[in-house]
Amino acid sequence: MKSRVYFIETKSGEALQSLAEKTKRLFDSLDFSSSVKKGDLVAVKTTFGEKGNIGHLKPPIVRAAVEKIKEAQGRPFVVETNTLYMGQRTNAIDHLLHALHQGFTTESLGAPIIIADGLLGENDYAVPLNKGLTKTAYIAGAAKATSGFVFLSHVTGHMLTGLGATLKNIGMGLASRGGKLAMHSGVIPQIIKDKCTACGICAEFCSARAITIKDYAIINPKECIGCGECLAVCPYNAVKISWDENIVNLQKKIAEYCLAVLKGKERRSLFFNFLIHVTEQCDCMDRAYQPAFEDIGILASRDPVAVEQASVDLVLEHVGEDFFRKSWPGIDYHAQIDYAAEIGLGQKDYQLVDVSEEKGRRIPAGKR
Ligand code: SF4
Ligand code: SF4
Repeated sequence: MKSRVYFIETKSGEALQSLAEKTKRLFDSLDFSSSVKKGDLVAVKTTFGEKGNIGHLKPPIVRAAVEKIKEAQGRPFVVETNTLYMGQRTNAIDHLLHALHQGFTTESLGAPIIIADGLLGENDYAVPLNKGLTKTAYIAGAAKATSGFVFLSHVTGHMLTGLGATLKNIGMGLASRGGKLAMHSGVIPQIIKDKCTACGICAEFCSARAITIKDYAIINPKECIGCGECLAVCPYNAVKISWDENIVNLQKKIAEYCLAVLKGKERRSLFFNFLIHVTEQCDCMDRAYQPAFEDIGILASRDPVAVEQASVDLVLEHVGEDFFRKSWPGIDYHAQIDYAAEIGLGQKDYQLVDVSEEKGRRIPAGKR
C-alpha cells in the first residue's frame, strides 16, 4: 500500500497564524491523537535558524505542534542539537540565548526547549545499527526517553546534500556531536589552485580555523570538520568536494542515522515538510536569502521517505524544473531518498491527499 502524504496549499506572505492553523489541520488528517498516550513525552524537532536568516520556521508554527500534542494529552518539548561548526549554536548556553533572540521562548512555544545533546554536544546514547556505513549511531541523549517525535522541517537546498528537509532534520538534526563528526568525517574539501584568488573569504567563514591563505587557500585536514561552509561561500567556485567518495557516503550515513533516531518510535512519529520561503542555501547560513519561488504549501506524513519524495515532486511540478539539482548540480539528492527507501526507512510510492481549505470546504456530493 502506498504511504499517504497530506498536503495543504499556502500562499507567499500568508499570515503565520494561518500557517499554524493549517499545520494543526494536518495533525488531524494524520489522526495524531491515536499515537499518543496520556503523559507521553513527545519531542518537536525544529531549528531556530542562524542569526540573520529569515527563512526558518517561526514560533507560531512550532506552537501549533505543541498545542496538538497537549490536546492529545502528551507532554511536548522542543528539541534542537548543537552544531558542529563554531557559532551561536555550538553549545547549549549560546544556543538557548540565540533561540530567545529569535523569539523561541517557553511563552511563545507553549513548551520548554531542550538542547538534546547537552551542554557541549557530549550527551548521547549509542544505537547499534550495523547498517551500511554505520555500525553504531550516536544520538542526542534527550531523544532516548521520548515516546515519539514531530519533525517540522523547512525545505531548502543544501551545500552538502543538495536538499535539506526531513531526512536531514532527523539524521543530522538529532545526532550528538560525536555522531555528526562520524557522518562528516569523509568530507574534506579540496581547493582548485587555478581558480583560487587567495581572497580569504573561506578562511573568514571557516569556524574550525582549518584554512590558511598563502598563494592560495590551504585546508588542514586534521582541523577540518567537513561542514562544507567554504564550498558555499567561495565566490570563485574554487572549492570542490568529491561527489563519489564523500557526498554519497554522507547522504547514506544521514539516512542510516534516521533509522537509529526512529528505532522503536517509527509508528509514533510525524514528518512535516514546509515548502515555504524555499531557498538555495539552508537556514544555517547567516544571511537573509529571499525565496527562490512562490510558496507551495505544507506536507505531512507518517512516512519520512514519502514526504521527502512528495516534496521534491511538488517543487518540480510548480517550478517547472528541478530546483535543487539546478542549485547544486554536482549533488544528486535523489541518491539519499533512494537509499533511505532501500534500507527500509519508508517508501517512495505515495498517495498525495490534498486537504487544502478550498477542497476541505467542498460540499459533499450528497448535499449539493
Ligand atoms: S574563498 Fe575561494 S577564492 Fe577565496 S581564498 Fe577561499 S578558495 Fe580561494
Ligand atoms: S575547511 Fe571548509 S569544510 Fe573544513 S571546516 Fe573549514 S569551512 Fe568547514
